[in-house]
Amino acid sequence: MTMELEAYIRDIRDFPVPGIVFRDLTPLLGDPAALAESVRRLAAPYRSMGVRAVAGIEARGFVFGSLVARELGAGFVPLRKPGKLPARVESASYTLEYGTATLEIHADAFVAGTPVLLIDDVLATGGTAAAALDLLQRLDAHVVGAGFVIELEALGGRARLDGHRVTSVVVL
Ligand code: AMP
Repeated sequence: MTMELEAYIRDIRDFPVPGIVFRDLTPLLGDPAALAESVRRLAAPYRSMGVRAVAGIEARGFVFGSLVARELGAGFVPLRKPGKLPARVESASYTLEYGTATLEIHADAFVAGTPVLLIDDVLATGGTAAAALDLLQRLDAHVVGAGFVIELEALGGRARLDGHRVTSVVVL
């Protein structure tokens, strides 16, 4: 029987600001079977694609990204908030609902042509993932796709990742 992962996602209304329904994945993270199943499903579309590195977006993308890296026998590359990475970085800034944000990656994170999979927890408007994909492409990665635990379909994020394979475990 397929496991209903939706049951492990908790909706928190008006967090972090009024009007937002925050999809809280801590119940899923805390359940051994649900966590294992979500990682299996995140990794499944990419099993035979020779993924060498999984890039995860700070912070929840680190949790799922490193588990998917282990599942695929790949390494892990962090995409971080500004000022956290110690060596030379590439940066990409993007627009959020309120203000802007920046992501950084080490400029020498991988060699050109490396097959890389992007992982994050939630695909909402797609701004974060689009900036992350831009960074991977600036490093000449071979981007095999972008995988998310949750896709918030009504926000249309998938359209902003045009040209990439986009997969999600749960569509809400
Ligand atoms: P976006 O750039 O709009 O696609 O937002 C994606 C990022 O914001 C992800 O890294 C998520 O962790 C976070 N995020 C956006 N909306 C939500 C939401 N409703 N619930 C939980 N996390 C969210």
